[in-house]
Amino acid sequence: LFAGETEFIKGVVAMDGLPDPDRVEVCFAGRSNVGKSSLINALTGRKGLARASNTPGRTQEINFFTAGDIYVVDLPGYGFANAPVAVVEKWQRLLKQYLQGRQTLRRVFVLIDARHGAKAVDEEIMSLLDASAVTFQVVMTKIDKVKGKALDESLAKTRAALAKHPAAYPELILTSSDKGIGIATLRAVIAGIEG
Ligand code: GDP
Repeated sequence: LFAGETEFIKGVVAMDGLPDPDRVEVCFAGRSNVGKSSLINALTGRKGLARASNTPGRTQEINFFTAGDIYVVDLPGYGFANAPVAVVEKWQRLLKQYLQGRQTLRRVFVLIDARHGAKAVDEEIMSLLDASAVTFQVVMTKIDKVKGKALDESLAKTRAALAKHPAAYPELILTSSDKGIGIATLRAVIAGIEG
């Protein structure tokens, strides 16, 4: 799956900038600092690749990477607390148009920090995905940082949140980019979506 070249293609700021929809696409979304760059880097085996999306100026772009035969798409961390209203609105419009109009988009992986469980901003993106009829699946990140009862509680909280979302795929994927946990599982899930 990720055996081929992995490279950054482009950051998209408007619908007419999207690359041709000529292959399967999966998308990663999550609050900033959730561990999204680390996860994409672990998945593709290319350290520093997804860091491009975190650099200033790229944070309001939809970032496209090729990974073997597919597009891996990195959505910026949502909740631009300090951005001007006009910037936030422009971004939300683009995000909606992209999610509703992209026929090759097969699944969005919504990343949630295993220490915290689903938060209000996570619920917002899930509701947008419901409204856009885009199937999504939750990936818990940084599971090396939480154990036992605390992990159980955060998983239970997240599962309860998911139950309210018709577009949610019920199974959680537990990952740690640091420890390499769940990366193979996530790859296998993506491979299963292909074609
Ligand atoms: P992003 O803003 O969502 O792209 O988050 P990053 O990938 O940049 O990660 C944010 C912080 O969390 C960094 O300090 C990472 O080193 C740390 N981090 C990311 N993944 C893991 C993980 O699996 N385990 C632990 N312990 N820390 C992680």
